[in-house]
Parts: sequence; structure tokens; C-alpha cells
Amino acid sequence: MHARAFVTVAALLLGVLAEQTEQGQAALTNDTAQCAPYSISLVADAQASYPTIGSPILSIPTTDTVALAKFNAITGIPNIAPKGVNGILSADTLNNYPTTDPDCWWTSSGCLTPKASGLAADTASVPEPRTLGYGFDDGPFCSHNEFYNYLSAQNQKATMFYIGSNVMWFPLQAQRAVVDGHEICVHTWSHHNMTAFTNEGAFAELYYTMQAIKLVTGVTPQCWRPPMGDVDDRIRYIASKLNLETILWKYDSFDWKVASGQATPAQVQANYDSLISDAGAGTFDTVGAIMLTHELTNYTMQTAVDNYPKLAAAFDHLVPIAVAQNKTQPYVETNVTFPSFAAYIASRSSTGGNSTSSSGTNSSSSTGSSSSSAGSSSSSGSGSSQSGTASGSSNAGVSFRLSYAHSAIIVVTTVAGAVLVLYY
Ligand SMILES: [Zn+2]
Repeated sequence: MHARAFVTVAALLLGVLAEQTEQGQAALTNDTAQCAPYSISLVADAQASYPTIGSPILSIPTTDTVALAKFNAITGIPNIAPKGVNGILSADTLNNYPTTDPDCWWTSSGCLTPKASGLAADTASVPEPRTLGYGFDDGPFCSHNEFYNYLSAQNQKATMFYIGSNVMWFPLQAQRAVVDGHEICVHTWSHHNMTAFTNEGAFAELYYTMQAIKLVTGVTPQCWRPPMGDVDDRIRYIASKLNLETILWKYDSFDWKVASGQATPAQVQANYDSLISDAGAGTFDTVGAIMLTHELTNYTMQTAVDNYPKLAAAFDHLVPIAVAQNKTQPYVETNVTFPSFAAYIASRSSTGGNSTSSSGTNSSSSTGSSSSSAGSSSSSGSGSSQSGTASGSSNAGVSFRLSYAHSAIIVVTTVAGAVLVLYY
């Protein structure tokens, strides 16, 4: 009796002490369980060197000499005053802003072509015709497993614009995106209006999100999307100095408005339908599209699922934005490889196109070059007990959950018969 009780207590204790893993978190189906707070040592050990999670970053911590040096090395920032304070826009500034739009301020004018010299135009469409650059903002949302399961079942990758604080709160959900083969871009640390930060605050909102994504997933994005689209030439310049491409959109589902009662589901559906109708009318026969949609609530994710078959039918291709741009090395880490657009499309056509998933025969293989070391991709996290083993089913042409140890993730992707081994 006592011995059994001891064993039970010991087992419970081990259960508490054992860290949750990406695979374990990805297997959860209950919303409450998915969203239960947790801690992994990778984040816990590093948290002291990060700004406060969930709060706007007003300045770089004085102890972070590396970040301070990077920021202080930036010269030539356009002399444009912040358009608010601490990430909150000033209504007066917006109301009194000149119609000549001297700052190319998207919030005021929808401007996408900078007026300051030397800045690239924002990306708001994709170069591949009849193609949708498929992506979602505001994740990782804690209860996203059902949505991500659906995308996996469709053999569909997307671009996920992640909020740095969410990544720190839900690192295992963020890891799932990379394991599943999605692209990750930056969506700032605290989701405030970027034009309402000082130069230092704006830098920090981007920089620490990049650091958080690197810490948790092993990759460093080179793309970002301003929350609410709020960007001007000052912010574009700072982002460009962090090698971040600014990505906006030309279609907006306004799915985010439903939670606050500012829009009805019928209105959101009409927005989806408008994109679908335009695709059918040939609007994207020369240049593809980007639509703003969210991984924000169960409603926005379910709406994405509901519309997936229609989008897949209306467009020839639904692909992550990097794929639509033919960027095969989307991250700073050059050993991470994405398929080219042609290879991605070939892999999908071999598995039945957009509308179906297939259990396929060219399943992922860990043979060949995959035996080489995954290497260490993070400066911290040593001692983390996270581990994983090969598991999961493989769809043809889709990433395959192979192993996960510390912050290094190995994903094997087969594209048109070629095996790409991605080391994170
Ligand atoms: Zn957002």
C-alpha cells in the first residue's frame, strides 16, 4: 500500500517536473489544456534578459549592451516625430496629418511606396500570378492545434506573423509552426502602433521579437508586418536596418473585428468572397494577392478553415509569402532551406493539388544527408530537457516531424522527390 502510494506520488512528481514538449503540446485537443500556462527552461532561463512580456518596450534594457550597440550603430533614421506616445497613436496627429503624406504613413493614406530615399517599397502582393500569399497574424494563439492540424491535413504551409510576447508565453506552439513547415515573420513584441514609439522603442519591439523567435525556434526572420499596418518611413528605415522586409496587404478580411463587435461574421465572409470573386475575375492573372487574416481567436481560425476550399479553388496556388517570392533562404540562418515556388508547386501537384491531401508514396526519409549534426542554433537553453523522437505521419512533400532537441529542430521535407533537410 505504502509502496504503491510512493510510486504514485513519484510518478506524479515526475509528471510535474518533466518539461512539456512541442510534440506533447501539439497533441492536445482541448482548448483549456492548450491554453494552460506552462514554462520551459529554454524560455525561463533566458527571460531575465528580455523585456517584460506583454508590455510595450519603451527602451532597450541598459544591461543589454549588444542590443544597445546595434541600435546606436544605426544612423540616418528619417527625422520624423513619433505619432503618439508609448505605442499609442495620437488622434490629433492623425487628424492633423498633411494630405500630402510626407512620411508615407500607411495608416493615413495606405501609402506603400516610401518617400524617403533608399527604402524598398512595402510588399503587399506576391509576384507569382494567380497565387495567394497565404498567412496569418497575431499568433501563436494558444489553442491553434485544430487549425494547424487542418493545415497539415491539407498539406498547406502558410506565413505566420508572430507576436514576440506570444512566442515567449507559448513557445511550444511557436515551435510547432516551424516543425510543420510554416514560415515565421515578426509582428512586434507587444502589438502596439509602431509609429507611436521612439526610434529606440521601435527598434526594441522588432529586435526582441527576432531574438525571441530565434531563442524558441532557432530561426531568425527577415520579414515583419506592422500591427494595424501602422508604418511610416521612420519605422520602415529602422526595420530595414534589422534586415526586415515590410509586408502589408491589399485585401483585409477584417476578421479581427468580430471579437469586438465591430463587424459581423457575414461581413467578414463578404470580404473573403470579394477576394475569391476577384480571383475568378482575373484580377490576379499578372500579380498575386495577399489578404490580412488572423490566428487570433477560434472564430478567425475556423473562418479560415471554412474558406480554405474556396480559396484553393479560386487561386491556382496558395503558398507562404516567401515561397511566392521564390526566397529559398527566408531566414538569417542560411542552412535553412525552403522550396522554390516551382518545387513547392510541383510537390503539391504530385499530391493532388490544393484541394486534397494525400498520404503519398514519396514519404519523407531520414536517409542521406540527414545524419549530419543539427548543430546548436541558440546561445541559450543548454540543459533544457526537451527532446523528441520521430513520429507523426508524413504527407508527401510535407515536413516530417523528425526530432527536436534543445532549440534545434530538424525538419525533412520532400519536394518533387528531392529531400531537403532543414536544420534549425
Ligand atoms: Zn496584428
